[in-house]
Amino acid sequence: MSRRAPFARWLDDTNDVTQTFLSAGQIPGLVNLAGGLPDPSTWPAPELADFAGRAVADHTQDALGYSPIDGLPDLRDRIAADYSRSDLRLTRDNVLITTGGMQGLELLGKVLLNSGDTIAAQSPAYLGAIDAWKPRTPQYRAMVLEQNGFDPHGSMTGAQFAYTVPNFSNPSGRLVPVDQRRALVAAAQATGCWLAEDDPYGHLYYDAAPLPRMLDLSATGAPVYDGQVIYLGTFSKMLAPGLRVGWVIAAPAVITATTTAKQGSDMFTSGLCQRIALQAMEQGVPDRILPGILDLYRARRDALCAAMATDLSDLFTWEVPTGGMFVWAVARDPSLDTDRLMKTGLDHGVCVSPSSVFDPLGRDRRAIRVNFTLNPPEVLAEGVRRLADATRMELTR
Ligand code: PMP
Repeated sequence: MSRRAPFARWLDDTNDVTQTFLSAGQIPGLVNLAGGLPDPSTWPAPELADFAGRAVADHTQDALGYSPIDGLPDLRDRIAADYSRSDLRLTRDNVLITTGGMQGLELLGKVLLNSGDTIAAQSPAYLGAIDAWKPRTPQYRAMVLEQNGFDPHGSMTGAQFAYTVPNFSNPSGRLVPVDQRRALVAAAQATGCWLAEDDPYGHLYYDAAPLPRMLDLSATGAPVYDGQVIYLGTFSKMLAPGLRVGWVIAAPAVITATTTAKQGSDMFTSGLCQRIALQAMEQGVPDRILPGILDLYRARRDALCAAMATDLSDLFTWEVPTGGMFVWAVARDPSLDTDRLMKTGLDHGVCVSPSSVFDPLGRDRRAIRVNFTLNPPEVLAEGVRRLADATRMELTR
């Protein structure tokens, strides 16, 4: 057979560890602590089914026709109104509807990165973001926000954008304190670097009231928001990930550019799903179901951390997260290779995410990300026991 043209070069770096842990969910009997998945019991399925029926019957053009690239105007207005504050004035020109938060990340890469440009990324970084930007072969500057002497201004100088997940970061579970949020916003304003605030977990605070968003902190009272923050939101953890509805809130020029880029990605986000989401917002569904979600996940966070304290405290260190979906556990013994632990864990019937997949260079092998939202307490405890056995086996190799 004649030679076939090869695949693009960026695919060569896709590591087999990522493939292994992303497909591990299929293994029967496995305790999956690797994903970042909501519990399906939290999805308001009967209400969403009702909204879907009504969307098709009463809003047929919106639901079944071609929709505007930037989203249904009513949904854009609703999101603009929800996020507006006295000094943060948003209109629909500040809002683009995306196909999940994931598409917002991809579009950022499309509109802000030329080949080889620099991203200042909170480290460790979300795997999906790293994947979304790979085709642009960016340079990464790691922002370790908790490190003493972290310098936001120096990190952002010369970077196209800074990427952060200030609320319960994926993967570290870390909450960025308000002073640091202010410092990041000030550095973005001083350097001209865009500041991406990726916020899928912003409503999942278990122990305290939410901190102000960097979007809020960057507001200047202008009649239409024109600041440095590019905020990414999603219904995935609030209603259901299968809706694939997210949004970007940013300066109008950013919305215009990302809208142009979206045309070449998927033309528009499903109007049916946008209508379902809009109706859910109008009926107050997210606010109604949130207390139940917080109770469920808080109890699971506590169960996981209690099990870890019993079985893993001689092997790992971690901080109890105050929200979100993840515990980030760092091996006490620096010789433990968590890529190998992930594979040994599969033999013991448990799957966790190794730190290498959250490092743009794929080198970090010293930590694991453990999810607590998907499984009930007894399954979490069993998973932790299996993980302890797998870790001990790895350490005696
Ligand atoms: N950003 C972060 C940090 C995430 O953890 C996720 C989902 N796991 C996303 C973006 C994308 O979410 P979605 O596309 O489901 O809205």
